[in-house]
Amino acid sequence: MVAGADKSSDKAAPSGETQSNAVTAPKAAAIEITPSLSVRELADLLSVSSVTVIKQLMRNGIMANINQIINYEAAAAVAASLGIETRLKVREAKVTAAEIKKRRLVGKEASGLQLRPPIVTIMGHVDHGKTRLLDAIRQTHVMDSEAGGITQHIGAYQVEVKGQKITFLDTPGHQAFTAMRARGAQITDIAILVVAADDGVMPQTLEAISHAKAAGVPIVVAINKIDKPGANPEMVKQQLADAGLIIEEWGGDVVAVPVSAKEKKGISELLENLLTVAEMEDLKANPSASPEGVVVEAGMDKTKGPLATVLIQSGTLKIGDTIVTGTAWGRVRAMFNDRGKPLKKAEPATPVVILGLDNVPQVGDVLKSVANEHDARALIQKRQADAQAASASQPVSLSNLFEQISAGSVKALNIILKTDVQGSIEPIKDSLERLGTEEVRVKVIHIATGNITESDVMLAIASKGLIIGFNVTTELGAKRLAEKEGVSIRNYAVIYNIVDDVEKALKGMLAPTVVEVIEGRAEVRAVFSAGKKQQVAGVYVTEGKVTRGALARVRRKDQVVVESSVISLRRFKDNVNEVATGFESGVGLKDFNDFQVGDILEFYRTEERR
Ligand code: GDP
Repeated sequence: MVAGADKSSDKAAPSGETQSNAVTAPKAAAIEITPSLSVRELADLLSVSSVTVIKQLMRNGIMANINQIINYEAAAAVAASLGIETRLKVREAKVTAAEIKKRRLVGKEASGLQLRPPIVTIMGHVDHGKTRLLDAIRQTHVMDSEAGGITQHIGAYQVEVKGQKITFLDTPGHQAFTAMRARGAQITDIAILVVAADDGVMPQTLEAISHAKAAGVPIVVAINKIDKPGANPEMVKQQLADAGLIIEEWGGDVVAVPVSAKEKKGISELLENLLTVAEMEDLKANPSASPEGVVVEAGMDKTKGPLATVLIQSGTLKIGDTIVTGTAWGRVRAMFNDRGKPLKKAEPATPVVILGLDNVPQVGDVLKSVANEHDARALIQKRQADAQAASASQPVSLSNLFEQISAGSVKALNIILKTDVQGSIEPIKDSLERLGTEEVRVKVIHIATGNITESDVMLAIASKGLIIGFNVTTELGAKRLAEKEGVSIRNYAVIYNIVDDVEKALKGMLAPTVVEVIEGRAEVRAVFSAGKKQQVAGVYVTEGKVTRGALARVRRKDQVVVESSVISLRRFKDNVNEVATGFESGVGLKDFNDFQVGDILEFYRTEERR
């Protein structure tokens, strides 16, 4: 029953109830439950394990698994059996809007805020029709006034529906979306999740959901390819529910629209729904503020020089403005839109190509306007200093977690979890999330089976998280990116060890990890015997230095021949303690007498790091 649902925290009390309710005797707050939810969500709400919920449901005659959707009555009965009072949540579309809005780059001045078009990114599994849908939207909803223009692919475009504009980023996919976030630029307001009706929810669909959720961006689902004979939209809806996206038809709050990008069917409905979601999000910007924007595409044109497509986020950019984008600057010489039309000014959420910069900026760079060249150079210098400071700040890892918690710089530990099999996911996720403390929540922001990929690393960068692998390997590209960006990846083969390490890291008790610090390298140019069976290598130090006592390994082609240590070090006839780059010396290694000309000696020491 919905009747009597009291919204004591709301200013607008339902009729019959007044603000004087505030003086009635305090009751333990009832938990609000949506008209339908998954078993897992209910368990989270009630702060009990999913197993407890499943058992109670069974007692009530309902057999359900963890992802199954149950209705309010069933959920309320479980809660009641645990002594928890519930009430039906009246659907409020704006629950998270305020929070999401806060994170958006809109004009800072509260006055002068005006509604602006939503900025939309299309995501989904490969071949589900993202590109074709982008094309279909563009072809069917070209802005009337510009129907004659020639399409220019500038990285984003605008269409018009019922007199209202929508801006689309035309690089589809959650990878591009998260790469942008990783650079600190979140510009997307709404994500369209494309799911092919003949193929259903696939690994990259799940990935896209996690990426959008981690960014706090609302999702509108486009169930595509409904023209195909094998299309099964109902299956897609069930799979989406299993993945935690409950569509409106089933009592959830996710809009799903059946479309055919091929036959251009359902496109208007999709766009109208985007406008509804945008309206609930209450997206605003101040057109008279100083212009700010983000670069979404950039390149060099042989005749025009550096070009940058910028999405204006607040203010109005005009010809003649002096601007800085990243570390490039210039005066806006000319601007044109996605139909090739020259513009004199660009308002919020408008994508425009700008001419006049001295250099090609990078995608994700922030555009700001300044008064003159002097201010432009000062801002660039500040940005360079900020970038240096940012790269010196340590990313989150289990080793430094406690330090970061103590310093107050970490409030939630975001984990990306990759496992070999589906069955491992729930137990690990549950055990990890239960480790959260008052100071730090442990949040598994993405879980999937399969190896650790670049896209996982991107998500970790964007969400300041770390990656845990269980019986999986890390792809080479992912390893490289993680090393470059300092993202922590830990691989485990035993669940207990994952939980144990994370728990210890939270408490600052993790055993120090031993890391290797390379001190130098040398090339073997000759081999001598030094009495009895002892061999000495005549080496040339190519980098760093060699010190007596250093740990050393011998590399031959791609193989490590031996791990040892330096027991003798000579320059000509003298024993020395150290030999620097560019010098020759004689090196003897402990228990090793098998040098060959061409071997590479690597010298290192180990360090304990917490
Ligand atoms: P993307 O990888 O998600 O960008 O997918 P594409 O847009 O490249 O589409 C993949 C394939 O599906 C192409 O051959 C498209 O022509 C086809 N396709 C896309 N949308 C539809 C549709 O609505 N109906 C049918 N029958 N085919 C579609």
